[in-house]
Amino acid sequence: MSETALFSLTEEHEMIRQAARDFAQKEIAPIAAEFDETGDFPSKTIKKMGEMGFMGIEVPEEFGGAGMDTLSYVLALEEICKADASHGAIMSVNNSLFCYGLLKFASDPQKQKYLRAVASGQAIGAYSLTEPMSGSDAGTMRSRAVRDGDHYVINGRKSWVTSGPVADYVVLFTMTDADKKHHGITAFIIETDKPGFHVGKKEPKLGIRASATSEIVFEDYRVPAENRLGDEGQGFKIAMTVLDAGRIGIASQALGIAEAAYEASLLYAKEREAFGQPIGQFQGVAFKLADMKTRIEAARLLTYNAALAKEKTKKSGGRFTLEASMAKLFASETAMFVTHEAVQIHGGMGYSRELPIERYFRDAKITEIYEGTSEIQRLVISRLETGLR
Ligand SMILES: Cc1cc2nc3c(=O)[nH]c(=O)nc-3n(C[C@H](O)[C@H](O)[C@H](O)COP(=O)(O)OP(=O)(O)OC[C@H]3O[C@@H](n4cnc5c(N)ncnc54)[C@H](O)[C@@H]3O)c2cc1C
Repeated sequence: MSETALFSLTEEHEMIRQAARDFAQKEIAPIAAEFDETGDFPSKTIKKMGEMGFMGIEVPEEFGGAGMDTLSYVLALEEICKADASHGAIMSVNNSLFCYGLLKFASDPQKQKYLRAVASGQAIGAYSLTEPMSGSDAGTMRSRAVRDGDHYVINGRKSWVTSGPVADYVVLFTMTDADKKHHGITAFIIETDKPGFHVGKKEPKLGIRASATSEIVFEDYRVPAENRLGDEGQGFKIAMTVLDAGRIGIASQALGIAEAAYEASLLYAKEREAFGQPIGQFQGVAFKLADMKTRIEAARLLTYNAALAKEKTKKSGGRFTLEASMAKLFASETAMFVTHEAVQIHGGMGYSRELPIERYFRDAKITEIYEGTSEIQRLVISRLETGLR
């Protein structure tokens, strides 16, 4: 992999990248096709990732994490996704959507109880905003939490929850005051082993098939008020703040998928012959490689830049919404472009399940959809630029 001149990695960065690469290539790459086929959750490798500190990379050690910076997280996630984007999806949700949210908004007792368990890899975390009738437009959600003494009673159906069937804890976003739309959403930390919590329909998916995704259903689920994350009505702000971090994770995932597809294509273009020469000598193929490489390096710059922007806010405060959205938008469209070209360069073998190329192509598509579609990223970026809503 080439380095960008702008980013010189520290010894610590090189170490985590190498550790993630070794682990991913040795333990994940050989099983990726099998888990893609079965759609089973890869519990053993995820557990090992927890033991290596990959499930709470940026969480301070006092709360069970590895205490590293955002660039370390990005580098590790990129390597994991180069081997398998499903493992990456599980890692990304755990780190960005669960741990980051708790780190930023949870009370100290909540951090001690829930963050420690998830960041150390002993428990799995999930994030549940989407509903069957509410995706990009969260203000229309139908699930409800009604205050009842020192509890809230939750009813409703949430959809598309990554790690939903296996999560021990879920950060749930639900309505406490529907009249207020976005401002009526409240966040809660949910324990999934309590009565009233059910795993619903498993979502049948095109890609990232080994990341368990399902509906979750609440039937008179009683959550103690002390499990509320932030104040009543603060849920939408929490959800969006957390997605800023999540989008850097998805950009890293896209980058990893694109790199894997590019490296395989480069090798194939040099080895595969047609009309008496390596196919990479045909300008039609060579120019594809040039475009793939260039877009990957541009995506890398945006993604690492977003990581540095997030790191800066740890000291100075503020948001990194613009950097995260631009990185996610560009890296995900790069992953789609590169994997599409990779299938073409591999010809029939690109379409075959004997090689991972078609899996990269299927996996790449999700990066343009979840944690805000490409259209939503363009909305976020343009609104920040114009100041118009
Ligand atoms: C595999 C997978 C895993 C997921 N994991 C999670 C998870 O862990 N937690 C969670 O909460 N959610 C999760 N999601 C849900 C995901 O975040 C949503 O699917 C996504 O935000 C889009 O919402 P939607 O599917 O309802 O599409 P819609 O919002 O219905 O959008 C449909 C189309 O309309 C476009 N559109 C909508 N509004 C606008 C607009 N204002 N301007 C222009 N175009 C617009 C969209 O871009 C899209 O092309 C997951 C989804 C998938 C597929």
